[in-house]
Amino acid sequence: MQPDTDSESAGAEMHRSIMTAFCDVLRASQLPPMTVMKLAASALGAVYKEVADQHGTDGVCPCGWQPNRRTDIAVLQAALAASMEAVPSADLRVMQAVGRA
Ligand SMILES: [Zn+2]
Repeated sequence: MQPDTDSESAGAEMHRSIMTAFCDVLRASQLPPMTVMKLAASALGAVYKEVADQHGTDGVCPCGWQPNRRTDIAVLQAALAASMEAVPSADLRVMQAVGRA
């Protein structure tokens, strides 16, 4: 598999991965969709925290990213809101490919 340098295809790959995980958890847990959505959002927050922890003063990653929890959460909230309001038609195909929730 080629490294994904194009941010649009990286976004599509992330979309597919999260949709697959969402559908798997929805089926296995029988929890309501909004509960599973909240679990997905919490998992993303946990991923942020774990990655950010590798970039603080005690961080081990040399990439140079300096997390700012206050501004980073605003960026993530804005991205969440923007993608909820406008769903490009191409995105609808992801759910059909993965299986209906
Ligand atoms: Zn890094």
